[in-house]
Amino acid sequence: MLPFKLVYSEKYYLPIGEHVFRADKYRLIRERLLQEHAADDSDFLVPESASESDILLVHSPHYINKLMEGSLSAREELQMEIPYSPQVVDAFMLHTGGSIMAAERALQDGVCFNLGGGFHHAFPDHGEGFCMINDFAVAIRVMQRRGKIQRAMTIDCDVHQGNGTAVIFGNSGYKAGTLPSWPAPVMGSAPGASPGKGNAKDVFTISLHQEHNYPYSKPASSIDVNLPDGCGDEEYLAWLDNALSSGLRQFEPDLICYVAGADPFRQDQLGGLSLTIEGLKQRDDLIFRAARARSIPVMSVYAGGYASRVEDTVTIHCNTVLAAAEVYRTVSER
Ligand SMILES: [Zn+2]
Repeated sequence: MLPFKLVYSEKYYLPIGEHVFRADKYRLIRERLLQEHAADDSDFLVPESASESDILLVHSPHYINKLMEGSLSAREELQMEIPYSPQVVDAFMLHTGGSIMAAERALQDGVCFNLGGGFHHAFPDHGEGFCMINDFAVAIRVMQRRGKIQRAMTIDCDVHQGNGTAVIFGNSGYKAGTLPSWPAPVMGSAPGASPGKGNAKDVFTISLHQEHNYPYSKPASSIDVNLPDGCGDEEYLAWLDNALSSGLRQFEPDLICYVAGADPFRQDQLGGLSLTIEGLKQRDDLIFRAARARSIPVMSVYAGGYASRVEDTVTIHCNTVLAAAEVYRTVSER
């Protein structure tokens, strides 16, 4: 039995057909965790769908209407890069409900996983890059509305920059900075950034990503680390450590949302970094240890993962659960 819960539904599957985004990965992750006796049935919680009023804490009524009525334009659907259907909307609503549940349980248990979610390219008024609803941004706003937290930090380690998240929380009053991991231009404030519907200065966003990759326009997070093509384990971990220390020096969150993308992997089809499976597990370990050392609850969501072999994506995502189990088991046994 794990020292925390895993939120999952068989309805997380997104019916998007043959796609580089393997929407069956969620089921495969659950199966692998059970097969390897890393988890048992009692570790899983089944979420309910988020409500429209939850989603409206982040997304515009106009956009939500378009999703509910199926009236996205051809261009908007193209930008989403997944085919629209009411069933796909239902699946995103469920992933979002899963992130809300994971946030609740993280505050109760210290850590909780949504074995889905992480749709960081969803903006208040449109979807992009396989993302329709920004599940974890909604979860953070719901926790604030319920008075469970005041301040949150997102730590986005997907290989692609968290552009939707940056815009949603973009008016948080922190001076955006780019760590000089590469001779990257210092980015100004996000064009088109809209204020989040919470108190100002309440969500701090960190994104570590490959600079030369989608999204090509990167609205400023609180901290952006623009990594060079081919960046390997050692360099990546050093920058992550640096960004975490810097972020946690500037800001004390009540909740961390870890966006644990599997696509910084060296054999990812949509990524150009060179992390190994072992390096990615060290990344997970670093984040959970940093949170544990400061007694900050962590909710974890999955985001991308497009390895040539889906088994590798599944291994990387399962390893995030194992890394947390090692860190939090040690704590509870003390
Ligand atoms: Zn990604």
